[in-house]
Amino acid sequence: MSGKHLIWFGLGLWLLSAGASAADAGGHAQFDPVLDAQLARLQRIAYDKPSLALQILAQLRLDPAHAERTQQLLLAEGRIQVVAGNSAAVNAITTGMALDPQQQTSFNLLRAEQADLEGRSLQAAEYAEKAIAGLASVCPREQLAQAIAQGCDFRSVWAALRVLARKQMNEGLLSLAESSARHGLALAEAGHDNYLRALSMGSLALLSHLHGQTEDMQRWLAQGTQVAKGDVLAMAQMKTYEAALASRTGRYEEQGRALEEGLAFATKADAPHLIAHMQVGLADVYLQQKQPAKAMAAAMQALPLLRSFGDQRLERNARHNLILALIQLHQFERARRELTQLAEMRKAWSDHAVFIEELREQGEAWAAVGQPKEALANFHTERRLNAELTALNREASLRELKVKYDSDRKQADLELLIRDKSLVDKQLANRQLAQQVGFAVAALLLLSMGLAVIMVKRVREANRRLKANEALLRAQSERDPLTDLANRRHFLGVMEQQAEARFNGALLMIDIDHFKHVNDQHGHGVGDVVICEVARRLSHAVRAEDLVVRWGGEEFLVFAPDVSLDHLAQLAERILQGVGAEPIKTEGGPLRVTVSIGFAHFPLPPSKLELQWEQAVNWADMALYTAKSRGRNRAMGIATVDARDSDALMQIEADFDAACSSERVSLLQVLGPAA
Ligand code: GH3
Ligand code: MG
Ligand code: MG
Repeated sequence: MSGKHLIWFGLGLWLLSAGASAADAGGHAQFDPVLDAQLARLQRIAYDKPSLALQILAQLRLDPAHAERTQQLLLAEGRIQVVAGNSAAVNAITTGMALDPQQQTSFNLLRAEQADLEGRSLQAAEYAEKAIAGLASVCPREQLAQAIAQGCDFRSVWAALRVLARKQMNEGLLSLAESSARHGLALAEAGHDNYLRALSMGSLALLSHLHGQTEDMQRWLAQGTQVAKGDVLAMAQMKTYEAALASRTGRYEEQGRALEEGLAFATKADAPHLIAHMQVGLADVYLQQKQPAKAMAAAMQALPLLRSFGDQRLERNARHNLILALIQLHQFERARRELTQLAEMRKAWSDHAVFIEELREQGEAWAAVGQPKEALANFHTERRLNAELTALNREASLRELKVKYDSDRKQADLELLIRDKSLVDKQLANRQLAQQVGFAVAALLLLSMGLAVIMVKRVREANRRLKANEALLRAQSERDPLTDLANRRHFLGVMEQQAEARFNGALLMIDIDHFKHVNDQHGHGVGDVVICEVARRLSHAVRAEDLVVRWGGEEFLVFAPDVSLDHLAQLAERILQGVGAEPIKTEGGPLRVTVSIGFAHFPLPPSKLELQWEQAVNWADMALYTAKSRGRNRAMGIATVDARDSDALMQIEADFDAACSSERVSLLQVLGPAA
């Protein structure tokens, strides 16, 4: 080592040791684990009784022993104000923190928790990640117990991880969410905090369910309940998990029972916020049991409390349940007013998945009480959001793909990636081949006639390979890898080749009914099996000249270029029967799966107005959603349309449902197989 290097080396060592002692000093001066345990108890009280928590905190502040813990106390106050919903107080605290470089982590944590409570999950996660990064040096994941003994604020890391996991779950990044939850559990165990341990196990139970691992789910739930025993508040929390899991698997009775038990625990703990939480859940159970008046009463009871706590996530839930109850009670005007208010709240929220679920439930409620117009409007919005979410999820899962690999689902994604890569490789190979052809032609001009014969052969051979490769490339990029059907890109290609600008032929838009339930109850793997089998049955039901396209997730499009309107209805019936008559065998047992279909023949009878293919798809789509709103497991076809010009046609498209009611559009209905 040269002299110069030695000096740098020494300086580095000196800096390192100075840094370590500064961190030590900072850790001890600012963080007191005994006080932290006290503050953690306050935090638990704060969820239900924020003003009491603030009072106790004020007393702790007066204790001279805590004179040097101002930052720790300020963070605790901020967190209490967050759960109390006092945004002005939180803002005052964070504004002060923002200016102090030593309090950046506290600042980020408070912002994360505040954004999380207000439904801004993306922002929340950004702040949470910063907070975790800020704490990482004091709380290394490898030696947690030691770090905690030396002043690692493990509860802050835990809180930030919880916010992060929620957002990851929302985006469908289940492996990442699980890793966050496991990290949280490790922290709670190292810090011997049973309350946080139980909550972590509840999250892991939920994640196991989402992964389709039922045994793991039950194990985590039982373990969490075991840890929570003797602590009424923790028991109440575990009951909310138990209820959520029962609800997700359609066991509404068990959901009701868990909530009643939770309500008893929450009452015993004198915890009004948790009581409201249980009431929102109970409203959901009553709705499932078709007892709207009880559901409405439960939601109304919870609402003022949730508002006073500033708990927007639960308030939104309560409002949604209230709306469903009002619809079931035929109080339509009030339901609409509530919906406007909910839409106003929604503006600030970024969680697509929850929104879609709400729209679906509201749409179904409107349809059930014979209000198809509202139902249809919901279906359309839901559909648009679904497309956006699928795009988001795809992007997100690609990101996740880079991080971790364990389940089958991701294996499938990986295969896709590999296929993509091989496509790119082939493209490159093609480019080289094309170059070779170019060189060969150039060389040909220079060579004697004798050699030219051989060269011509070579050029021909190269050209043939080029063509074959191109065809292969095209075929691969136009197939859907899951079902092996043609994909949307292929359909687009076919449409571009249509000689005329106007669309000719018939379209059937097909969507699996209640497919979400298949995924939710049996997992994504079974969902994929169902999609494949439906694809296979569809291909069987159509004629050789018809093209079946996987249009989206569980939507298919059949293009029948040459069929009469009469035969079209028969084709629709063959599809309904072909898919729905026999249950599909899956590892979760036989599943009865039906589809809804919207179909139309173009140009539209009787006026035969010209339409472009995009507009034709839209007509099939509108008919599909009419089939959905009329009860599913059926096909609705456009028989005649009373429109003289394209303006009239567009008017009908703007309010398709009204046009059906006023008989400007007459529809043809084909029912699916009886249950
Ligand atoms: P509806 O009767 O109204 O059509 O109800 P639905 O539950 O079928 O609702 P929707 O069509 O909106 O739901 C489609 C769901 O399909 C959403 C998405 O999670 C899921 N999905 C999309 N693509 C795939 C896939 O490739 N595999 C699996 N397993 N699920 C998918
Ligand atoms: Mg769909
Ligand atoms: Mg569907």
